[in-house]
Amino acid sequence: MDAPWQSRFAQAVPRMAEAWTPAGVPAPAALALNTELALELGLDPAALAAPQGLAVLAGNAVPPGARSVAQAYAGHQFGGFVPRLGDGRALLIGELVDRQGRLRDVALKGSGRTPFSRGGDGKAAQGPVLREFLVSEAMHALGIPTTRSLAAVATGETVWRERPLPGAVLTRVAASHLRVGSFQFAAAWGEGESLRALADHAIERHQPDAAGRPERFLALLQGVARRQAALVARWMGVGFIHGVMNTDNMTISGETIDYGPCAFMEAYGPRTVFSSIDVAGRYAYANQPLIARWNLARLAECLLPLLSDDEQQALHLATGVVDAFPALYRAEWLAVMRDKLGLPRSDDEVDEALAQAFLALLQPRQIDFTQAFRALNSAADGDEAALRALFAPEADEALAAWLQRWRARRAGAGDAERAAMRRANPAYIARNHQVEAALDAAQERGDLAPFERLLAVVRSPFDERAEDAVFAEPAPVAVTAGYQTF
Ligand code: AMP
Ligand code: MG
Ligand code: MG
Repeated sequence: MDAPWQSRFAQAVPRMAEAWTPAGVPAPAALALNTELALELGLDPAALAAPQGLAVLAGNAVPPGARSVAQAYAGHQFGGFVPRLGDGRALLIGELVDRQGRLRDVALKGSGRTPFSRGGDGKAAQGPVLREFLVSEAMHALGIPTTRSLAAVATGETVWRERPLPGAVLTRVAASHLRVGSFQFAAAWGEGESLRALADHAIERHQPDAAGRPERFLALLQGVARRQAALVARWMGVGFIHGVMNTDNMTISGETIDYGPCAFMEAYGPRTVFSSIDVAGRYAYANQPLIARWNLARLAECLLPLLSDDEQQALHLATGVVDAFPALYRAEWLAVMRDKLGLPRSDDEVDEALAQAFLALLQPRQIDFTQAFRALNSAADGDEAALRALFAPEADEALAAWLQRWRARRAGAGDAERAAMRRANPAYIARNHQVEAALDAAQERGDLAPFERLLAVVRSPFDERAEDAVFAEPAPVAVTAGYQTF
């Protein structure tokens, strides 16, 4: 991992960066290495797989020139404020400029205790590490902004959860690890200087156009609103349920972060929740845009002192951005749905009604979200068999009526709309039962073949392959009932 490592975050906001080194582990062994991402970062994949590379990826060595730190952050967890969270089991090794000139964070997760660990052991188990690797790669392949996974390395250690489990370390790559919770930390601890420095660092990384301008902090808030509206709309478009949208898990970059209890919805249901700790359904599928707005309001509160010296004016500006979020989100969601339905031009009222009508057909019939939209691709080519099969055995008049409306709205649609549909309606998502089977095989039998097979499938989600048909199928009903990720 010889590379020109930078420490821009630590330099910009030293009071939020605790110099710290990883704990080290007895027996590093690669579980998964991301060759494409290594190349993107200007790293040599062969060197990563060699003992010296693995030592870095396991936390047994810090690469030359890098100064690893634990990042401080706060956060609202399920609505309750925790003023000091921080990297309790993660470390930022540093930043690298990638092949496209973008600054990227490289961080370890599961690298041992830090000053932020509280009661935790600082470790990660192999199952969740492989899950993050798999699902983040799936999201990336779906074209959804996300942190990436460079490596998953077994540690040779036992991690104790409810039972003994094999340990692992994940190497995560992000546009940055700045979160709403980072701003909450600076604001909560009365760190006026850190707050401004943090905001300027965020602007430099995620909104360089606004750098140096007097109204840059408002631009930052607006930028986060835009990116989060776009992100959550895309989640909704593939049935992704994040599961733990705490403010410390909402990025300033607009990337998806923290693949703890996430899952893809199968049968369409707005209230779908997979996480057993989310008893109230706070982070259910349909709540995600509302929570994004709630989290944005928490960020806006932190930025108030930077928005204007006049408190009333600051409040006015912040409120304006938060109040505008639902309209931003709706526009993004409509754009996603228009692609999924292959609609030409735009007619917001008609398109929204058409999309909602389709979802309303799926819900009572418990039809698989991914399969239903995918079947529309064939229907757009004149073959409605797949769609009708999903609605069988009922001979469905409601479907016929909807199809008639859809065809009328699609009059004038051409190659561009077909192409948009093919990019918007995947055949393969990381289905929960497949993910579990792959993780079980790895964990219980040390067999990585199912993991690798599933990874290959979800990395190519749009091209249908006969040999992968089973991966396009929802879980058998017995498996779906009461499924929980966490
Ligand atoms: P998360 O639920 O992954 O968003 O993490 C919430 C907070 O708990 C963060 O501050 C984490 O660093 C911390 N945390 C989670 N698991 C552990 C662990 N095993 N050891 C120490 N801290 C942890
Ligand atoms: Mg987190
Ligand atoms: Mg987590």
